Amino acid sequence: MKRPEAPIERLAARAFRVPTDAPEADGTFAWQDTVFVLAEVEAGGKSGLGYSYTAPAACGIIADPLAPVVLGTDVFDIPLLSVSMFRAVRNLGRAGLCSSAISAVDVAFWDLKAKLLDLPLADLLGIERRELPIYGSGGFTSYDDARLAEQLSGWVERDGCAAVKMKIGSEPARDLDRVRVARQAAGRAELYVDANGAFTPQQALSFAQRFTEFDVSWFEEPISSDDFRALHALRDRFPSQMALAAGEYGYDPFYFRRMLEAGAVDVLQADITRCGGVTAFLKVAALADSFMTPLSAHTAPALHLHVGCAVPRFKNVEWFHDHVRIEHLFFDGAPVPKHGRITPDFSRCGLGLSFKEVDARRFSI
Ligand SMILES: [Mg+2]
Repeated sequence: MKRPEAPIERLAARAFRVPTDAPEADGTFAWQDTVFVLAEVEAGGKSGLGYSYTAPAACGIIADPLAPVVLGTDVFDIPLLSVSMFRAVRNLGRAGLCSSAISAVDVAFWDLKAKLLDLPLADLLGIERRELPIYGSGGFTSYDDARLAEQLSGWVERDGCAAVKMKIGSEPARDLDRVRVARQAAGRAELYVDANGAFTPQQALSFAQRFTEFDVSWFEEPISSDDFRALHALRDRFPSQMALAAGEYGYDPFYFRRMLEAGAVDVLQADITRCGGVTAFLKVAALADSFMTPLSAHTAPALHLHVGCAVPRFKNVEWFHDHVRIEHLFFDGAPVPKHGRITPDFSRCGLGLSFKEVDARRFSI
């Protein structure tokens, strides 16, 4: 049987700004809102969607240079479309904004391809598992102890999370007390901490040793993840029960290869909204597998759900407070956790998400 041709007829993007529900901060940054960029593509009489958490300027990149190089190409030819898009931004700088824009568009291509084939995306990619563990993530440094405890215990008790993550590093003098509060709130769940690169190697090592008292099992970006050699040296001296995790700023497969070659991490993190979409996430997963390193999805749980079911050595998805909120505001079909896990709705095609135009309108930029 020959499939119908599906040349891309339209590619468009829109941006939305969603205020946080309280001031939020981590070890190196503070924010009051999150920008969501939606990419929509049409071909073969159907439409697909993807998105990225980035800047409104990503819409400009999608309009030009991305749209002109993809219009008219068959949406089934996603590897070709991916190459064309990365070529088009060569002289602009691939990492960062351009790769975030490409990620949103690439996800939209995969969503549309699966819809044209009447398949859930996970089935199109091929299933290795049907559900993914999530870990609750938030615990912002801007929260007081009561809010920190309430948020972490909620993920454990309400959603059944086996692990929860908090931010540290903005006021190191408070961190041991905050981790003590979090440990108590998390109960029997694993406790993860994320410094977002706030510490020097000496500080990070000292904190890692003291966190063993609270059974911290994952220390994310203890130092800047720009220095893979320093990450490796730190990891060598880490307590044996504590995993070093990083990778959220990877914008191309080569970054992840270098990170893995340097022995910089125990758990590799990758973000489908930054690394180049589904196409690149599959490559990153293959790299992690070849280094026998577990892969964890950074934020955007509704977008990682299907691809996470299809890749090897997949550890968990970050159930990030801001993104969970936005995905439920904006989409019918956003995943709902059960016993600490999420699973695709296999009765829906593509990503299984439909955009709630009316609800989203008030956040439009
Ligand atoms: Mg992080």
